[in-house]
Amino acid sequence: MNEEREKEEEAVEKRELIKDGKRLDGRGFEELRPIKIEVGVLKRADGSCYFELGENKVIAAVYGPKEMHPRHAQDAKMAVVKFRYNMAPFSVDDRKRPGPDRRSVEVSKVSREAFEPVIMREFYPKAAIEVYVEILQSDAGTRTAGINAASVALADAGIPMKDLVSSVAVGKIDGQVVLDLNGTEDNHGEADMPIAMVARTNTITLLQMDGHLTAEEFGRGLKLAMGACRQIYELQRAALIERFSSSNSGSKSEKGGNKNGT
Ligand code: UDP
Repeated sequence: MNEEREKEEEAVEKRELIKDGKRLDGRGFEELRPIKIEVGVLKRADGSCYFELGENKVIAAVYGPKEMHPRHAQDAKMAVVKFRYNMAPFSVDDRKRPGPDRRSVEVSKVSREAFEPVIMREFYPKAAIEVYVEILQSDAGTRTAGINAASVALADAGIPMKDLVSSVAVGKIDGQVVLDLNGTEDNHGEADMPIAMVARTNTITLLQMDGHLTAEEFGRGLKLAMGACRQIYELQRAALIERFSSSNSGSKSEKGGNKNGT
């Protein structure tokens, strides 16, 4: 355990997640963790993105549109979107058993639904669009990081979308509404509320809540999260613009990873 983590654990034992008006990792209440976005990192996927949110490290890969198999699962009018969220065994403190579990099935479902209003599925009848999100390292907020990565990977694959989806969580620690909880805050806090949103139109496409918030805290948290989604949207957009302005031939092998950080 490193020194920083030891100090965090000590403070948590004393039941303190906020000290001198700051969170244990030094952030203010309304501050995001550092974000890094790299587009086009996998040459065999049609679109891909590496996304970091603090200690979370996530890769999203998109395949398709391609013919949907098995055929009986095809939709004659539109593409079927498959979304698989997976946590690597080494991504958590204690080794995670490989393979799907109840939580990953739930996260995959809500993440797929977060894209339903934006992917123009009617352009590709009988087709499948596959989205894979792999969590390489986790520190709470992995579903939001996965959605942000998937959004950029879908755009990188050229899948027609009305707009990007951006995602972040808000929650409550030591009675304070705060943005983007880290692992310690998520474990010892009072509430965690991930949201996803189409930033340009303010359309919420995912909203979950674990714990309790008063109506006033909910409203304040939602506003905070919506503002943060707008910030993330700008970073996603900037990463995509950089990627496409610097790729000259468009061939897969020349997809360089472009970086964008805060
Ligand atoms: N976590 C874990 N083992 C698990 C599931 C989750 O250690 O099997 C940790 C992981 O760091 C994750 C955090 O708990 O990021 C919070 O999980 P949650 O279900 O709230 O989802 P997330 O916040 O990652 O979207």
